Amino acid sequence: MSTQDVELDDLYREIILDHYRKPRNKGRLEHAEMSAEGLNPVCGDEIRLELRLGLDGRIAEIAFGGRGCSISQASASMLTEDVKGKTFAEARGRIDQFRAMMTEGSAPPQDDSGDIESLQGVAKFPARVKCAMLSWNVLQQAMSEGAASAPGKDDGNE
Ligand code: ZN
Repeated sequence: MSTQDVELDDLYREIILDHYRKPRNKGRLEHAEMSAEGLNPVCGDEIRLELRLGLDGRIAEIAFGGRGCSISQASASMLTEDVKGKTFAEARGRIDQFRAMMTEGSAPPQDDSGDIESLQGVAKFPARVKCAMLSWNVLQQAMSEGAASAPGKDDGNE
């Protein structure tokens, strides 16, 4: 379970392994308001996401848990850093951009620090795209379920 089977640029590989070894925002949230879990059976990856919103409707806290290959776990770690502080509408935009990067070869978001860009090379390996997409799909699921169960807590931008 490593990035060895995926030929990535060394710099990108280092960024991915850094997130894998030192995951950001990993753990449980004390007062999670919404959560979702997902599985990538092809690789055996598991991701759980928990969210808590601030009074302004933005994602105040987000944490992930799970296990699996380095790409799935690193992608989840990057996701939590990327969407924290964003509204649901903004977070959905990031999911769309990430999906486009993985499936259509689009460029990473312009304000990306370089972390998300490091996963760009994974797009060449269809079997691993599912690993990278897992946490983003789980986020979409958590937000749609959360919005359905907590009316008035949605972003209000739609
Ligand atoms: Zn995987």
